[in-house]
Amino acid sequence: MKSLDQLLRSNIKELKPYSSARDEYNGEAAVFLDANENPFNSPYNRYPDPHQRELKARIAEIKCLPAENIFLGNGSDEAIDITIRAFCEPGIDNIVSISPTYGMYQVAADINNIEVRKVLLTADFQLDTRAIFDAADENTKIIFLCSPNNPTGNCFRKEDIGEIINTFQGIVIIDEAYIDFAPEKSWLPELKNNPNLIIFQTFSKAWGMAGIRLGMAFAEKSIINVFSKIKYPYNVNNLTQKKALELLNKSQNMQKWVEELLSEKQNLIAQLKKMPFVQTIYPSDANFILIKTDAPKKIYNFLVENKIIIRDRSNVALCEGCLRITVGTPEENRKLIETMKRAPVSGG
Ligand SMILES: *Cc1c(COP(=O)(O)O)cnc(C)c1O
Repeated sequence: MKSLDQLLRSNIKELKPYSSARDEYNGEAAVFLDANENPFNSPYNRYPDPHQRELKARIAEIKCLPAENIFLGNGSDEAIDITIRAFCEPGIDNIVSISPTYGMYQVAADINNIEVRKVLLTADFQLDTRAIFDAADENTKIIFLCSPNNPTGNCFRKEDIGEIINTFQGIVIIDEAYIDFAPEKSWLPELKNNPNLIIFQTFSKAWGMAGIRLGMAFAEKSIINVFSKIKYPYNVNNLTQKKALELLNKSQNMQKWVEELLSEKQNLIAQLKKMPFVQTIYPSDANFILIKTDAPKKIYNFLVENKIIIRDRSNVALCEGCLRITVGTPEENRKLIETMKRAPVSGG
């Protein structure tokens, strides 16, 4: 495995981060006259904590790892972008990703002028580790994995992910946005044995906080320090930090939602199985279901006409004829099924 020094871009290694007023003094004080803030309109007048100390301390408890291994960003999307900017030299370096997978890896790479080498999953949506290693060369800085994967919904085999982490010389990302729904365990405990591993998680899915924009990256301290240097000083605003702390103290909600959504998912699967035009219901370890149908566009359009929106994935690699359905409330799922039953497709 290459060292962080060998993997980082040289301008990032040399980067001197912006030093904010709150970096230079972060203790308690009676009078703050250091940041050119307006003294009125409390509490909105003050800049947020650039290091999100209180929030990280709470997340550290929940995730059972030190706060120094946590990066917080404006959604996982910020972590994706920062990872690429930290390691990949535009026009020279490349990343290896899988296909199909989450679209933001490609977009973030395109914005940064980084080539993406996409490796098709196998027919059962598992990793083709041989092809992944073949796609990588000396300029491959990062391999992006997503497990459970979006849009396929499945977790990758542990041995395959392990092989990639153990063999690849660069950085391995595992995006665990859906891990709270999965029967598989998170890779978080493996961080301490694998300095090249970065794990993304998010508050947007199981925690129900997509609207406040809060994503996490977990990695070795030296990587987190680099990310903190690159990010905007105040990347997680005060309202988000406060609200997240409040909602994190209601983690029993999250457990309850996950249980309910998993049971609703089973109901949905049972109903979908009865529909003649549904050819395949792929195994799902997430809060959504990928189905293959005879007439994806017809079904999609019919649902839209009835004000029910699902995701048409039929143009995505290996997903011909596929639709992705997010599990909703029991009422929403009932409406979906009722409407799908009326869809003007014969099928069979
Ligand atoms: C939804 C999703 C995310 C979440 O992104 P945020 O920016 O944190 O909302 C990350 N990765 C994958 C694969 C997702 O599907």
